[in-house]
Amino acid sequence: MSIVSQKDYQAYKPRGFTTSDKEKVTLLFGGLTWRAERLLEGVFHGSGYHARALPQATKADLLRGRELADVGQCCPTAFTAGNLVNFLLDESKARGSQDVMDSYAYLTAGSCGSCRFGQYHQSYELALSNLGLDAFRLFFMDQTNPDGAQEGGGLDLSPALLSKAVLGIMAADVIQDVEYQLRPYELEAGATDRASQLAVEELYQACQDAKVPANTLGVAAWTLHSKGIMRALCRARRHFDAVAVDRLQVKPKVKITGEFYLQTVEGDPNYNIHSWLEKEGAEVYPAPVVIWLDYLLRFNSQYWEDRPYLPRARFNLAALRLASKALLWKYDQMRRAMNGLPHRVPRQHDLRDLAAPYFDGRLSGGEGDMLIGKAIWAHTRNKAHMIAELSPYGCMPNTMSIGAMAAVQGAHPDMLWAALEVKGDSEIHALSRCQMLLTEAKSRAAEEFDRALHASGLTLSEAKARAAETRQPVVRSLPSRGASGTAANLVLDLGGAEL
Ligand code: SF4
Repeated sequence: MSIVSQKDYQAYKPRGFTTSDKEKVTLLFGGLTWRAERLLEGVFHGSGYHARALPQATKADLLRGRELADVGQCCPTAFTAGNLVNFLLDESKARGSQDVMDSYAYLTAGSCGSCRFGQYHQSYELALSNLGLDAFRLFFMDQTNPDGAQEGGGLDLSPALLSKAVLGIMAADVIQDVEYQLRPYELEAGATDRASQLAVEELYQACQDAKVPANTLGVAAWTLHSKGIMRALCRARRHFDAVAVDRLQVKPKVKITGEFYLQTVEGDPNYNIHSWLEKEGAEVYPAPVVIWLDYLLRFNSQYWEDRPYLPRARFNLAALRLASKALLWKYDQMRRAMNGLPHRVPRQHDLRDLAAPYFDGRLSGGEGDMLIGKAIWAHTRNKAHMIAELSPYGCMPNTMSIGAMAAVQGAHPDMLWAALEVKGDSEIHALSRCQMLLTEAKSRAAEEFDRALHASGLTLSEAKARAAETRQPVVRSLPSRGASGTAANLVLDLGGAEL
């Protein structure tokens, strides 16, 4: 008996999604922070879709993904495939497989890149067919063609919907940034988390209520103004302003970098690194999604920069550069709604120039040269005392970046750079490595604070008294005065000094 399948390979093609499906099918999605996912729910609900974020991925999802999908996959694929499958399995037990296939569809990003991101859909397909859920619908938004319309006409990822989605994600970045700058210094445990929940609900409502015109000019005008979302951000700020903080606690600042999925999510897929670092006494500088969006614009504009002889090259290049400017302008507007507290997004040309001696900016896959550029930027521009870089097990682009980082470390031997390989099941190994560098980061932060006190001519008690007198709002821009740490910059600011 032959064990070789005689069936020809057929590329995956989902059943169509009709307008009547819109009434009864729930779109599932995931892979972002809870804030961004909640705001995307608002965007979809406001556009007439049933939508629901998958639960946060867990170790059980990793094991399920490894069991049912291909074994050579990178760890983010195993987490995301297992996450979807476990959700569908639980639902199937409650309501039957056919009902699940008819009632849910999965919407995710896809690509044909140089890394396994281009093969995610095959992992999902394999896992689902191993479960007998072959007819389940998976819809992919290609990063190079995000609006890919689906057969049936029920799923319309129109420019209006995509514009709302991008603003929702950016607003979530802003909220996350404020949250991470306040929580380590809060005087009442849990106060920042409560403020963040309230802030996200304000924005959820604004995303749901947003009415965007259908025509291109209308979408552009709405995106620039988006009054409802901007007003919701101002209301969100008031929730954070009610959090009492003491920013004179000395803490090392740790910048998170790495592969997109691992640096973005908060949970088992990255060993809960964000909350672990905070429990260990650090302030975390998280990775906003907006940098990735700007990187995609930069990467695509490079194609036209290199081929000026192609038709419409100048037009396409100008359009991409304008889109990048508009994106960053909008993000800065959102930062201003939070009194300038969220970090400014590093400029792509800066990151590319910093990385250029070590990594070609045209190499795609993973974070490309950004991983190197961000590490050098954080270290040389006093953005953090330490960098925690999250490398997925089985990731080819990341392996290349790590190789290049060996040369970067040779040029910057004082850089505290923790390369953490994330497999999902070797937590102790990764975190103990991180802890070793964190110990050094703590002593650097303490030494920097002493220098800041000296430069400002203040004692700690004088600095505390002056901070209490000034009665500044909690959510406000904190000027950088040459130090990496929040406490050191605050002391320098109070004393009108620089390091
Ligand atoms: S960048 Fe690496 S971890 Fe991410 S999808 Fe590609 S191969 Fe997988």
